[in-house]
Amino acid sequence: MSLKLDGKKLSLEIEQRLKKDVNSGLIIANRVPGLAVIRIGEDPASGVYVKNKEKACERIGIKSFIFHLTQNVSNKEVKNLIHELNNNKELDGILLQLPLPNNLNAQELISNISPEKDVDGLHEENIGKLVKGEKALRSCTPAGIINLLLSQGIGIEGKRVVVVGRSLLVGKPVSIMMLNQNGTVTIAHSKTKNLIQVCNEADILIVAAGRPKFIDSSFIKEGAIIIDVGIHRLKSSNNNTSELCGDVKLEDIISKASAYTPVPGGVGPMTVTMLLVNTIFSWQKNCGLTSTIDDLLP
Ligand code: NAP
Repeated sequence: MSLKLDGKKLSLEIEQRLKKDVNSGLIIANRVPGLAVIRIGEDPASGVYVKNKEKACERIGIKSFIFHLTQNVSNKEVKNLIHELNNNKELDGILLQLPLPNNLNAQELISNISPEKDVDGLHEENIGKLVKGEKALRSCTPAGIINLLLSQGIGIEGKRVVVVGRSLLVGKPVSIMMLNQNGTVTIAHSKTKNLIQVCNEADILIVAAGRPKFIDSSFIKEGAIIIDVGIHRLKSSNNNTSELCGDVKLEDIISKASAYTPVPGGVGPMTVTMLLVNTIFSWQKNCGLTSTIDDLLP
């Protein structure tokens, strides 16, 4: 029997913990934690993600402020808004919902977010601290993956880890986190030769390639732990129904893997939860409280 790594369950447990931390810190802090979310354009998936984040904030006592800007807003206008939010003392976090319309420069805009409010953990200062192994705001999806593994007592030290994908959002930061946990890490990408052979060496295989059902059982060795970051909505041939799936062909690998993340309900909920963790970490720091959640920032 392979173990389902249940991100939904763990995210609810962490939320309970965060809710308590917010309640117990309120008297000293004298204000609730605050998160600003900037959404640009009408991408429906972004709309769903922002709504989910707003609801999650509400559940644990973070006040969220949604700034929905039009598709044709300029880089300069977004930068001005970010600077305004950087100076707002009621806010502990600023999130720029990705992807952005093509006329905007995501990395430049992220660089304008104050590193102390960069709750997506994507600012170069926070990436630098990750590389140095210093405590700081962490990229949400990668940190969620590490917490999910550790919560199940799955040690990373000494394991062969293969990460498929090298994006700044997932592949690179998760590789550094795995290395910081003493894993032996290989990063694969679209130019990697003999990908099947490389993946077959993995004790832990993390797939963030953005390709639906790309990884089947031929890529994995018996007993490997499979983390599926991908998320895709596939329509049926008559367009009447759709299913959510990941980058991994789950039905094919499930009997060979010792543990796996489902899609949905695996990595996705942990990503939202890590946004909450980062916001509370920043709030505790801003309000002079001792951090109670350091252990969740790998
Ligand atoms: P991305 O920026 O498109 O990066 C994809 C990476 O996969 C690239 O490094 C690319 O290599 C590599 N790749 C693509 N095709 C490959 C192939 N045939 N063989 C080997 N490597 C290949 O995507 P991302 O932002 O990292 O996201 C990856 C997936 O995770 C997407 O489905 C996204 O929707 C999902 N996601 C989910 C969550 C969540 O919370 N569950 C969060 C973030 C992202 P090159 O660099 O050589 O092009």
